[in-house]
Amino acid sequence: MENTPLSVRLENVTKVFTKSETPAVSDVTFEAPPFGVTSIIGPSGAGKSTVLRLIAGLEAPDIGVVRIAGSDVARTPIQRRGVGLVFQNYALFGHMTVRENIAFGLTVRSRDFFRRLLERRSERDKINERVTDLLRLVQLQGYDDRLPSQLSGGQRQRVAFARALAIEPNVLLLDEPFGALDARVRAELREWLHGLQQQTRVTTLLVTHDQDEALEISQHVVIMQRGKVAQTGSPEDVYDNPVSPEVASFLGANVLRGHVRSGRALVGPVVADAPRGANDGDSVNAFVQPQDVKLTAATSPNDGDVRLGTIERARVVGSRVKVLLLLANGDQVNVEMPRDEFDALAVSEGEQVYLDARSPRVFLGDYSI
Ligand code: ADP
Ligand code: MG
Repeated sequence: MENTPLSVRLENVTKVFTKSETPAVSDVTFEAPPFGVTSIIGPSGAGKSTVLRLIAGLEAPDIGVVRIAGSDVARTPIQRRGVGLVFQNYALFGHMTVRENIAFGLTVRSRDFFRRLLERRSERDKINERVTDLLRLVQLQGYDDRLPSQLSGGQRQRVAFARALAIEPNVLLLDEPFGALDARVRAELREWLHGLQQQTRVTTLLVTHDQDEALEISQHVVIMQRGKVAQTGSPEDVYDNPVSPEVASFLGANVLRGHVRSGRALVGPVVADAPRGANDGDSVNAFVQPQDVKLTAATSPNDGDVRLGTIERARVVGSRVKVLLLLANGDQVNVEMPRDEFDALAVSEGEQVYLDARSPRVFLGDYSI
C-alpha cells in the first residue's frame, strides 16, 4: 500500500446543530498522530460521530479548524480530503458484486481525470489488479463474484474496509465499524484490524463505545463526554490515571463512597491519601478497576471489618472469574481475577472475603452514576 500517513488535528472545534441545545461538539482540540490508531470513546451522544463527520467533511465546524497534515481543510471537499470511511452499517451496493463494490471508488475517481483513458485496457487492468490486492488485504480472495447478500456480516464489513482503502486514503475514519456484529466476530475483526493497520500504517481514527476495543488496538485515546474532550493520552495512561470520576467509571472502574478523616480517605476497604484540598468529613469517591481488587479468604471474619465483602455472585468467563461483592455500606464492587486464584480461595456465593484494593484513585465530592 502506498499511502502517506498524515496527522489529523482539531483545534477548538465547535459544532452546534440546534441552537437551544448544548453543542454536539464543544471546543474540541486533539491530535491523531500519523501511522497509528487513535480511538475516540465515550458514551452515546458524546459527539464522537460528529467529530468524524467534521474530519471527513460531511459537516463543517461553526468555530475552529480541522487540519489534515497541517493544512486547514475547510475549503477541501470530501472527495479531495483523502479520507476512507467505514461506518457501522456502511451499506454496500446490493446489486454489485464484491469486486464491483470495491472498484466503485476507483472508477468514480477515475471518471474526472481519465474518462477517455478508462476505456483503455491498461487502466481497467490496473483497477482489476488493485482490487485483487485489496481482496487479498482483507482476506477475501475468491469472493470476487459474490453479492453482499451472500456474505456474513464480518465479511461485508471487510468489503467496506477494502472499498475505503481502495482510494489509498491518507486517513481512515471508522465509526463503530464492528458495532453491528456479534461478540465473537467482533473480537476476530478487532484482531484483523490491528494487523491491517500494522500493514498499511494509515492514520486511523476509530470511534467506539467499547473501551476494551479502544484500549486494545489504539496507541492514542480521546475520551469524549457531552461534546467535550474529557481526557487524551495513551491507553495505559488514561486507564491508570483517569482525570475525573466520570472518566474512571466510563473505563469500567468501581465507584466506592467514603469520607475524609485526619488527612486520609476512608472508602470502604480503601484507605488512601485524601485528595488535595480535602477537609475532615468531606465526601470522597474511590475508583478501583475490577482487576485491581485482591481477595483473600476470611477464615474467622471480624464483624464490622470494612475490608469484608460478601460474594453475591461469581461467574466463570473463560479463564477468568467475575465476582460481584457487597460491602457493609451497601456499595457493590466488581472484581475480576484469574480462575485459579479464585478457586484457591475456596469460597462460594454468600460467603465473606477480605478485599484489598490496589492503586485506587480518590476524588473529592459525591459522585454517583
Ligand atoms: P455519538 O456518536 O458520540 O453518539 P453524535 O456525534 O452522533 O454522538 O451526536 C452528538 C449530539 O449531536 C447528540 O446530542 C445528537 O443528537 C446531536 N446530533 C448529531 N447529529 C445531528 C444532526 N444532524 N442534527 C441535529 N442534532 C444532531
Ligand atoms: Mg455515533
